[in-house]
Amino acid sequence: MEKRGLAILGSTGSIGTQALEVFEAHSDKFELVVLTANSNAALLIEQAKKYLPNTVVIADENRFEEVKNALWEDDIKVFAGKEALSQVVQMDEIEIVLTALVGFAGLEPTMSAIEAGKNIALANKETLVVAGELVTQRAQEKGVNIYPVDSEHSAIFQCIVGEFHNKIEKIYLTASGGPFRGKTTEDLKSVTKAQALNHPNWDMGAKITIDSASLMNKGLEVIEAKWLFGLKPEQIDVIVHPQSILHSLVQFEDGSIKSQMGLPDMKLPIQFALSYPDRFKSDFPRFNFADFPNLTFEQPDKDTFKNLQLAFDAMGASNGMPCVLNAANEVTVQAFLEEKIQFLDIANYNEKAMIHFSGSSASSIQELIALDDSVRSYVDSLI
Ligand code: NAD
Ligand code: MG
Repeated sequence: MEKRGLAILGSTGSIGTQALEVFEAHSDKFELVVLTANSNAALLIEQAKKYLPNTVVIADENRFEEVKNALWEDDIKVFAGKEALSQVVQMDEIEIVLTALVGFAGLEPTMSAIEAGKNIALANKETLVVAGELVTQRAQEKGVNIYPVDSEHSAIFQCIVGEFHNKIEKIYLTASGGPFRGKTTEDLKSVTKAQALNHPNWDMGAKITIDSASLMNKGLEVIEAKWLFGLKPEQIDVIVHPQSILHSLVQFEDGSIKSQMGLPDMKLPIQFALSYPDRFKSDFPRFNFADFPNLTFEQPDKDTFKNLQLAFDAMGASNGMPCVLNAANEVTVQAFLEEKIQFLDIANYNEKAMIHFSGSSASSIQELIALDDSVRSYVDSLI
């Protein structure tokens, strides 16, 4: 088998580092071409020295000298800046680009990779939230595949392999409920950043961990699912499943439901996105039924966790609204992490932004960039 050329955008993050573990276990099947990071120069240098990619990019230009000097003797090309991300993904040697960077910053490199005909292993859900229509349309025109890395979407993808000609009636995205499951609005008034960062089942980057606590993550995943699987909003449901063993479910037109199960471990969906249509033998820990005698399910509380409702609203509103919600949420989550606002302010400001920008439309990448920018300024002014 010829090796698949692999680029990992955001290699220093939670998904990125786990992707490198997957790569290491299967280095006979992949050629590591590109690694990139935002500002963690030390880890990027360490990774580059260990895995010897052809090229690395550090998005933060202030770190360029440091990375360049550290890697000059290793014959690794070093670039800096955000434009470089969009350029390196087009390298001939690359077959698949894993987008493991966080937020709106993933949009341009993902589009650029699609333009160059690269397949995408998509972790960066924000890209599909803000530009789902443009991204999926262009991917189709270019004949490239978008393989989901998000565990819920990977589960659905794994359930529909071999069923592509069968219609999906509906899907259930499972949600753990996060650290604040069962709490009331009153309880949430006083929760701290440390509590919000303490996810019961998954160890992830800070932004998605806060999104999981506020159920924004599930809201973003609803919109992500709509685009990945070509569904109507009414075909997507969310069910809280605190054990995180069923990673999502698909119901077909005959009423049959399929689910994909396993321990919560992102390495499996990362690997499947890279190995599809094959499954590679792995040593990931195996599920043991005796450890989980009770698998439970409950309805999400969309009144307390308003972000989930806002996402459904955004999905059904004008075509700029998911971009508005995403931009507002990136700003509010950052402000919460900097302890400038309270936990409940995240959804409150997100809602204000949706009201302020109601009816917004954006039908090109340039318009989305402009809209994202205006929403950020507006929300900044509220904070
Ligand atoms: P993280 O914060 O741990 O890592 C983010 C990576 O992206 C780092 O390498 C960072 O250097 C880079 N990066 C951040 N901002 C950047 C920018 N502006 N420009 C260029 N590079 C930038 O995040 P994560 O938890 O690994 O999540 C990455 C993406 O995967 C997110 O979209 C998240 O929603 C999605 N995701 C993560 C998980 C998980 O388990 N961590 C699960 C499902 C989906
Ligand atoms: Mg997920």
